Amino acid sequence: MFENLSERLSGVFDRLTKQGALSAEDVSTALREVRVALLEADVSLPVARDFIKAVEKKATGQSVTKSVTPGQQVVKIVHDELVHVLTGSEDPGKLKIDNPPAPILMVGLQGSGKTTTTAKLAKRLKDREGKRVLMASLDVNRPAAMEQLAILGVQIGVDTLPIVKGEDPVAIARRARTQASLGGYDVYMLDTAGRLHIDAELIAQAAAVRDVANPRETLLVVDGLTGQDAVNVAEEFDDKIGVSGVVLTRMDGDGRGGAALSMRAVTGKPIRFVGLGEKMDAIEEFHAERIAGRILG
Ligand code: GDP
Repeated sequence: MFENLSERLSGVFDRLTKQGALSAEDVSTALREVRVALLEADVSLPVARDFIKAVEKKATGQSVTKSVTPGQQVVKIVHDELVHVLTGSEDPGKLKIDNPPAPILMVGLQGSGKTTTTAKLAKRLKDREGKRVLMASLDVNRPAAMEQLAILGVQIGVDTLPIVKGEDPVAIARRARTQASLGGYDVYMLDTAGRLHIDAELIAQAAAVRDVANPRETLLVVDGLTGQDAVNVAEEFDDKIGVSGVVLTRMDGDGRGGAALSMRAVTGKPIRFVGLGEKMDAIEEFHAERIAGRILG
């Protein structure tokens, strides 16, 4: 579907005169191709522009190594810069869960994959770190969402807080904390309500839950295929709720992953995990190298 950037750049440099160093003209010709590749990967225009500027500075005047072509050399500079921007956290997969029971708040829009991700992370904590996890759904307006979490809990062998009809999200968060303390759980995960769009009520509810739960981590789940929308959602949630990391879902899809770059560049928030499918094991910690390779195509 996409032309490989390395091939494209080789084509560009074949047409240029070979010199001992990358000339400003060589670099700017190559960077036009890079910009197209970034935009095709769904990186937003201002982010692509800034990125190109940074690469331009690094590339101009660099001497061309004998073992690689100028095209390959620019690709390497672009790749390294992508990794540099994408890297947001030393150890993205390590959740802060000391001092049990540690609350983890999950936020995001409806359909982003929030409930699925909650269960995937709970399973990961149980399987990899031997943690006892309790999950609670706070989506009081959507009984089906509450049941979905309970069903996933049974499937992965993780307890869920019993559903009590008529309780509000703050009361559920309090009950989750009590149950987690009394039951000797290491972690309790609060799956907040999602809606199709961000509205004042959604934010007020998430903020009220945050205030009582005092979460160790607030993870925002966003659909990685929604590009610029995902970035807007992240800015808004971070502004109003404050998030400690982002989970990009649907990275198993056709998208080239440009949302990851825009997300990092615009919000500055670390991407902690990527969702890679519907199955409960289809999640991995974020690897900047992998996404960089994908963006470059
Ligand atoms: P929520 O409304 O945000 O809680 O979304 P759900 O967790 O119910 O997920 C909505 C749909 O997306 C479900 O069918 C999930 O199986 C699916 N889903 C979630 N994460 C991923 C992912 O990483 N990849 C794919 N392909 N599907 C996902």
